[in-house]
Amino acid sequence: MDTALIWLRRDLRLDDNAALYHGLAKAGRACAVFVFDRDILDGLPSRADRRVEFIWRSLVELRAALRRRGGELHVLHGSARTAIPAFAARIGADAVYAARDYEPFAVQRDAAVAAALERDGRALHLVKDQVIFEADELLTASGRPYHVYTPYRRAWLARLQERDHAPWPLPERLHALAACAATEGDDMPGLAALGFQAGTLDGLPIVAGEAGARALLDDFGARIDDYGAARDFPARKGPSYLSTHLRFGTVSIRALVRLAVRRASAGAHTWLSELIWREFYQMLLWHYPETVEHGFQRRFDAIAWPNPPGHFDAWREARTGYPIVDAAMRQLEHSGYMHNRLRMITASFLVKDLHVDWRLGERHFAERLIDYDQAANVGGWQWSAGVGTDAQPWFRIFNPVTQSQKFDPTGAFIRRYLPELASVPDAFVHAPWRMPATPGGFVCGRDYPMPIVDHAAARATTLALFKSAGGVPGRAETPPANPSRTLG
Ligand SMILES: Cc1cc2nc3c(=O)[nH]c(=O)nc-3n(C[C@H](O)[C@H](O)[C@H](O)COP(=O)(O)OP(=O)(O)OC[C@H]3O[C@@H](n4cnc5c(N)ncnc54)[C@H](O)[C@@H]3O)c2cc1C
Repeated sequence: MDTALIWLRRDLRLDDNAALYHGLAKAGRACAVFVFDRDILDGLPSRADRRVEFIWRSLVELRAALRRRGGELHVLHGSARTAIPAFAARIGADAVYAARDYEPFAVQRDAAVAAALERDGRALHLVKDQVIFEADELLTASGRPYHVYTPYRRAWLARLQERDHAPWPLPERLHALAACAATEGDDMPGLAALGFQAGTLDGLPIVAGEAGARALLDDFGARIDDYGAARDFPARKGPSYLSTHLRFGTVSIRALVRLAVRRASAGAHTWLSELIWREFYQMLLWHYPETVEHGFQRRFDAIAWPNPPGHFDAWREARTGYPIVDAAMRQLEHSGYMHNRLRMITASFLVKDLHVDWRLGERHFAERLIDYDQAANVGGWQWSAGVGTDAQPWFRIFNPVTQSQKFDPTGAFIRRYLPELASVPDAFVHAPWRMPATPGGFVCGRDYPMPIVDHAAARATTLALFKSAGGVPGRAETPPANPSRTLG
């Protein structure tokens, strides 16, 4: 092959990059390109989107790294569906290489690009990069996708060999990427030209690009053995904080799996299980793209969620009167991140205490999370709402006060985000409405909202809603009717 176009998407790194490796290995001449896709960007509700800036900063770093090695990266702004075939034609590419993406939007976009390329006699080659095992590499004995995480994890671990996480070597011929000389109008657009604000990440502990990922990985490498013990306590520095880097591919999943496997401690093993959850949800979303809108357990689509007026707004504006929920929602608003335990608590609270449709919560997280990943978010919301694949049945309902007492025992996390509770003693910080009034002291209802709902009453309503849709306590989930697919 003469010329290849390497299309980078959510693999914004030099290290261990499958598309770069394959594209450069197979062609004499190659170009690398990234498209700020208007089909995505134009639909974003805010012009101060932190993800756009994260991508932009990562690209600045990646382009500089490529140029230092004699290479080049072209950055376009337009609809990828037309920009990629047009760019491929302009440079006379025989084929386009890209890392496979499993989200429904990406699958459709790639099919459209492949069709357009094919009409011009070119091919689109999608290679595995963002997962260890692709959606149809791990199937049950009857050849169907796993619907339950634990057997999936068992199969994943049993199949894993060293070659599955071996890195793709850094191509020696990166200078071949300079062959497509830049022409006028090829300069990387600034954020303003893209229609977005700069400075959205200022003050946040998140550094874009491979350098940011490496720093987090080094830091986490020293804490990984303690992960199992620390990960559930939001006031502690327990998790890796690598999710945004995984989302945009500024770190390779193979590097993370290698770290976990080589460390081989209990903490590393627990962390590896979380990486497998990520892959489990990617696999499910690929096989069942309709779960973006529908519960995996379809019978619960029949629930008419009351969405009581004011509930959704109180939740997203951190005014529910439940400190752990409100502190978590402020963390999200302030930083674009939320601790995993808190994602579970706030999602459960929105659905099972406030009786708001899980899809509204999923959309809100989709707008606010810098690490937003459709597969993990839809999976996490369905798990919390009790309409998903497994593990969390609908009749198990988190109590926000006992969750708070258990995972933030001294209220350290709560007080970090709710300074209005600074003077409330530990004994009442999880449920300040229970605190007796003292003259001149904290008054619940004045200094902080009274609880928006009574948990016990809300719980009873939730159980009734699920039963009305055919929920029988203890009954296992029913698999969806649609057939599995293959990557072809
Ligand atoms: C309601 C809800 C919504 C969520 N939305 C997202 C989302 O949009 N994007 C996202 O990346 N994760 C999401 N998660 C999963 C999890 O909360 C985050 O991955 C994690 O908090 C990110 O922090 P970390 O990188 O420090 O995690 P670590 O604990 O260090 O975990 C390492 C990596 O494993 C993966 N991972 C960990 N837990 C899960 C999980 N439960 N499901 C899937 N992957 C997991 C992530 O890629 C994460 O970066 C959601 C969970 C819930 C309950």
